[in-house]
Amino acid sequence: MPTVKYKRILLKISGEALAGEAHRGLDFSVIDSVCEVIKKCSALGVQIGVVIGGGNFWRGVKDGADKMQRSHGDAMGMLATVMNAIAMADALCRHGLDARVLSAVEMNKFCEYFTRDTADRYLNEGKVVIFAAGTGNPYFTTDTGAVLRAVEIEADAILMAKNVDGIYSADPNKDPTAVKYDSLTYDEVIARQLKATDITAMTLAMDNHMTLVCFALKDPENILRVVCGENIGTIVKED
Ligand code: UDP
Repeated sequence: MPTVKYKRILLKISGEALAGEAHRGLDFSVIDSVCEVIKKCSALGVQIGVVIGGGNFWRGVKDGADKMQRSHGDAMGMLATVMNAIAMADALCRHGLDARVLSAVEMNKFCEYFTRDTADRYLNEGKVVIFAAGTGNPYFTTDTGAVLRAVEIEADAILMAKNVDGIYSADPNKDPTAVKYDSLTYDEVIARQLKATDITAMTLAMDNHMTLVCFALKDPENILRVVCGENIGTIVKED
């Protein structure tokens, strides 16, 4: 049995990563493969919290932009994260896991309201907890929501599963000279304006000494590799 480096994790998956090649909506083959890996991590005794973005359905700033009042556009974005959370909980249950959705915004017909203590209890019971609706406030992102929840549940690390395989010196899709970093400090990410998370999320992680590992979801087994301490992607932590 492999040894585990991180016993309680917060897995952040961007909405777009769940959409697969289509980049919009949900790709159930991606969701199923993520569930399989979450199941393997759970079988190793890892406690798993999940935050899913909403970009596969709606991003407030990008899709609403100057056509909508920002708070309204962001409310739609938060609702998109709830749709993803419900889809993921449904899939996890089909894979034989017990999963609960805890939302930052009350909507008790669909899911439970988030409290830190409920999340902690469920995690200790071996349930997968999916945190929905981000921080519950406009002008934030689900990256910030992920760091906030990770800090609250005292996670050992945040696993940022993205469409890129780490943090680069420049956009690797646009700049062929872009270099991937193995390890960075929070200060380096912020000072060099590297595309890891938004700055609000990164400063919250820095203030609370929360380790982040950024890697590609393209191979979902990467989640297990990171949990077991394999050096893939880019790790952001204190010196
Ligand atoms: N959002 C928000 N407050 C939060 C989290 C998210 O208003 O605390 C809204 C915001 O409009 C954002 C959208 O939800 O664009 C989807 O989240 P995000 O862009 O972080 O999703 P991802 O890029 O990870 O798929």
